[in-house]
Amino acid sequence: MRSTVVGSFPVEVKEPSNFKDKLLNIFGAYDPFKESIRQAVYSQLDAGVDIISDGQVRGDMVSSFSKYIPGFKIEDGNTFIVSKIRRPTGEISVKDLLYAKKLVKEYYNGNVPEGKGVKGIITGPSTIIHSSRITSFYKNKDDAIIDLAHSLKFEIDAIESKVNPVYIQVDEPFLSTGMVNMKVAREAIDILHEDLTVPLAMHVCGTINQVYKDLAKFNVDIFDFEFSGNNVNIGVLEENYNLFEGKKIGFGCVDSSINELDSYDDTDKLISRGIDIIGKEDILLDPDCGLRRAPKDVAFEKLKLMNDIKNKY
Ligand SMILES: [Zn+2]
Repeated sequence: MRSTVVGSFPVEVKEPSNFKDKLLNIFGAYDPFKESIRQAVYSQLDAGVDIISDGQVRGDMVSSFSKYIPGFKIEDGNTFIVSKIRRPTGEISVKDLLYAKKLVKEYYNGNVPEGKGVKGIITGPSTIIHSSRITSFYKNKDDAIIDLAHSLKFEIDAIESKVNPVYIQVDEPFLSTGMVNMKVAREAIDILHEDLTVPLAMHVCGTINQVYKDLAKFNVDIFDFEFSGNNVNIGVLEENYNLFEGKKIGFGCVDSSINELDSYDDTDKLISRGIDIIGKEDILLDPDCGLRRAPKDVAFEKLKLMNDIKNKY
């Protein structure tokens, strides 16, 4: 049984304090987020997480991708689609992932244990497009989703070849809202998955009782859902696990929407129920969603609790 995170971690932006950083800052080369990545990585590893993220510390899940992709314009924090969506102007997350990978190696003095490592994460095409407003070029969101999938494929391929992550996760929270054309969303995931040699995961938060039949048809290796702050999904999985058999399930078992530590007993019971349904081999324990909004110590304690229970089984 392994553990992971959905992705985001509380950010602490560090002002340049020593001479070298101040000098770098003068030339615009100081990176205030580097320290946040280091803290996110160390915190996840200290808590016992097996497959970590780089903490997704650089901003919200839409603009941190759309700002590198021609066709989008960001104004006052909102993303607009203004022309044809084309390939990204450069790699978006590779540098941070390589830094996270280097930190993992450093943490284990060069001998990273089997099964531990870094995963790549991108925000999915359907979610980015449904969070944006079309102002010109596209007549409908579906065509924009397909063009964005082709654009994000460059990022996925770059992550695969340069980082060689444990797996790559696509975040598609909008798929549970009923707003998305599921056929187009699936086609977009197929574009991302083509020729990929590492496993592909899809994270969908929210309640899945209206969409699980559609979701089960997606060609991914790992499905990631929330089960802690949600009392519907566990029943859906219990009754329909046959639809997901053969896949791994990212099992959200601590509640990322409350900023206090989850109950040990309730979490333990939930995990045990998850193991009964999915089996130890195919279950991946993680929080329901990203932990960005939690205080840093609470985020750590939640991950620690999850891993303490994991080690019991
Ligand atoms: Zn989520």
